[in-house]
Amino acid sequence: MSFASLGLCAPLMTAVAEQGYDTPSPIQAKAIPAVLEGRDVMAAAQTGTGKTAGFTLPLLERLKDGERARPRQVRALVLTPTRELAAQVGESVATYGKHLPLSSAVIFGGVKANPQIDALRRGVDVLVATPGRLLDLFGQKAVSFDQLEVLILDEADRMLDMGFIHDIRKILKVLPAKRQTLMFSATFSNEIRQLAKGLVNDPVEISVTPRNAAATTVTQWVCPVDKQRKPALLSHLIQEREWHQVLVFTRTKHGANKLTRYLEGAGIEAAAIHGNKSQNARTKALSGFKSGEIRVLVATDIAARGLDIDQLPQVVNYELPNVAEDYVHRIGRTGRAGASGQAVSLVSSDESKELAGIERLIKQSLTRTPIAGFEPGQAGSAAEAPAGEERPRQRRNDDARRGTRKPAGQPRGNADKPAGDRPRRRRGGRGRGRSANQGE
Ligand code: AMP
Repeated sequence: MSFASLGLCAPLMTAVAEQGYDTPSPIQAKAIPAVLEGRDVMAAAQTGTGKTAGFTLPLLERLKDGERARPRQVRALVLTPTRELAAQVGESVATYGKHLPLSSAVIFGGVKANPQIDALRRGVDVLVATPGRLLDLFGQKAVSFDQLEVLILDEADRMLDMGFIHDIRKILKVLPAKRQTLMFSATFSNEIRQLAKGLVNDPVEISVTPRNAAATTVTQWVCPVDKQRKPALLSHLIQEREWHQVLVFTRTKHGANKLTRYLEGAGIEAAAIHGNKSQNARTKALSGFKSGEIRVLVATDIAARGLDIDQLPQVVNYELPNVAEDYVHRIGRTGRAGASGQAVSLVSSDESKELAGIERLIKQSLTRTPIAGFEPGQAGSAAEAPAGEERPRQRRNDDARRGTRKPAGQPRGNADKPAGDRPRRRRGGRGRGRSANQGE
């Protein structure tokens, strides 16, 4: 199977070749022909499967011959749950559409609305948006949908998790009924199927990498430890095992901040990424992490969702997620594109229920490997912080002078004021984000 056999035009083939792809991924092989035929699609596919190109390539193919978007009109709308995902999808649209005369734009909250309004004024062939900001701008009459041909919901399950259902329903009401609709979701829960009713029409159903098969190249193990010793154990593992590019998941934003400060205190470059960080701070943390300046990125589930970080070697579940399925999402961050990865969960005795739930879901029992000196029930034996205190006692020399500095990723100025992850948050421009218009 080649891209050429899928019926994509030369400018798209060139863009694909420039990306270095020679073979369509399974989701692409299935989704591209269905979308080109004009069918509605419901696809179960996670990040890392190539789903973005799976919908973007045939979308651009379909749009290339039609009438360009008129002022304030949109021909295709891609809805995403997070700003990061919106930015990434927007980048893909710009990349694959590079040799086509189609325009695209990305809009999301937490950054100034004016450049976004300007981009919409001219009309946009492909608009990638988060629901809250889209509704704001629709309310301001900056955009309308009379010319809409295609609607794509990306990571629909996460949109529901994040409470966007009302926003989505409001958006659906103002879209033309006659349109092509594509829905991508990691799972097809009952809730998703409910949402799909009345949204997609006689859809082609596609499923790739069943949820529990995502981890084939990932070594997963559990490290039993007392809760209060998790920070010290994590810092020990990172240093002793020389882990680089470690993505660490915490349950809460506060927990992410606290752990980041701890790691920094232990001489490990770390940054937190979560919903209380401005877009600017998140973008900075992510690029520092990708470039290797930041060794550890501490993230909450919502913030980490959709991050496109290829071949991540190391994922740590500092705390197990409440929802077992989030475990699969988390470890899906590693071992992508055929690379191997390692996912370790630091599990304390109060998390045994969550661990059992995860093992049930993945139909696999995870190996328990305690680390010498950190075995449960041994608190206080090693030279690290006492129970309940999460500051390491000793700093490395080269870090001592940083002791008074604010931790990375913490507010330093106006650009770092919290912006939030949730829909319908406060309005107004804060921080500097990406330029809204990417494709012109
Ligand atoms: P996605 O699931 O859309 O987030 O894509 C995951 C990663 O796979 C991205 O970094 C893409 O650049 C890459 N990718 C997408 N399609 C292909 C392909 N056909 N061959 C190789 N890599 C691909």
